[in-house]
Amino acid sequence: MMKRFDYLIVGAGLFGAVFSHEMNKRGKSCLVIDRREHIAGNIYTSRKRGIHVHEYGAHIFHTSSESVWDYINRFARFNHFVNSPMAVYKDEIYNLPFNMNTFSRLWGVRTPDEAKAVIREQIKDLSIENPQNLEEQALSLAGRDVYEKLIKGYTEKQWGRECRELPAFIIKRLPLRFTYDNNYFTDRYQGIPEGGYTAIIEKMLEKAEVLLGTDYREFDRRQKEAAKEGNDYISYDKVLYTGMIDEYFDYRLGHLEYRSLRFEKEDMPDCENYQGNAVINYTEREIPYTRIIEHKHFTFGEGEGTIITREYPAEWKPGDEPYYPINDERNNRLFEEYLALAEKEKGVLFGGRLGQYRYYDMDKVIEAALALAKEESK
Ligand code: FAD
Ligand code: UDP
Repeated sequence: MMKRFDYLIVGAGLFGAVFSHEMNKRGKSCLVIDRREHIAGNIYTSRKRGIHVHEYGAHIFHTSSESVWDYINRFARFNHFVNSPMAVYKDEIYNLPFNMNTFSRLWGVRTPDEAKAVIREQIKDLSIENPQNLEEQALSLAGRDVYEKLIKGYTEKQWGRECRELPAFIIKRLPLRFTYDNNYFTDRYQGIPEGGYTAIIEKMLEKAEVLLGTDYREFDRRQKEAAKEGNDYISYDKVLYTGMIDEYFDYRLGHLEYRSLRFEKEDMPDCENYQGNAVINYTEREIPYTRIIEHKHFTFGEGEGTIITREYPAEWKPGDEPYYPINDERNNRLFEEYLALAEKEKGVLFGGRLGQYRYYDMDKVIEAALALAKEESK
């Protein structure tokens, strides 16, 4: 017997779930598989003693797109959380992102002009016109103190590379402002879904069939074999693949590089408030983790006791979880070559952070998945 689907969607993360939801709405059938034992990919949240735990690191939804904000609000109610992380360097504590609170603590200045004068003085001998890498970009924007205390150590442990070898765009993700404003993001909308992220993905996948603990390669091989032998099998007209694009092609052009992470969770049932903030960054190179998150503060202290997670950056090797694409020149060039192969791959679409090898935030993932669904429906 054959079971037929319009789409096989590889990856039950945000990209796969939005695409599946949209195609279901258009009357198409979708089978969603994921090699993990849970849905939601990296935005997966679990729940313990009333605390939503961000199992793969802090996830704050933020966007400037009204249509993306409207879209995600169909699936959840968002609270009014505003991300204002702190940074610890040795025995000093600073506000992030880099703003007047940070500068005032660093230099005792009070006005924007005073802060700008300090920065100017610190970089006057450098004459960086057109920053070529992260170090030059950071120095020219924020001066030597901010770079050395708050950026250099954090960035080098996060990426496992010298700041000079990293693209400038990574640091441009962070605002630098001369106002007393600790909001990490500049986007118009921001918040945390009140029921956790997993509930959003559950809703998106309501009309799909989902198979967990299922790897694409093995699954596809089994179906083809079963069909050949006249046994029961599942068929699909098209595939949406949201895994690593180089893995899909068996690394035939070589490996794309990623950065991995290790999350160390600590449950503290007898502690009500461990660090007083959702996210605290540790910017010293010598401390092996980059940040500690205390999950209950994403929902204003809801839940009993507390749970924290230390986030350790890690070298990635094949088989590890690929959390961040490393979008430097070499990797981007290799990705373009894979993209050329992908364009020739009939009946297979590629999407998401891994399929498109992009440092995508959630709002961009939604935008791209909606665009692909629209394209497919033409
Ligand atoms: P994923 O969530 O990675 O989903 C892909 C899924 O495909 C995975 O579940 C994987 O198991 C599955 N898969 C892969 N290969 C196969 C295969 N061969 N067979 C079967 N299944 C397969 N974004 C924000 O907007 N705000 C934030 O604050 C934020 N913080 C972040 C913090 C961290 C530490 C990280 C790593 C990311 C953060 N992001 C944040 C980005 C956000 O996680 C992504 O934008 C989003 O999760 C990407 O969704 P996706 O579906 O593309 O990928
Ligand atoms: N960064 C830094 N110091 C910090 C926080 C961030 O130098 O305290 C740099 C670092 O290079 C990081 C980049 O800014 O990779 C982007 O930070 P963001 O918080 O956006 O990273 P993500 O949450 O995606 O890991």
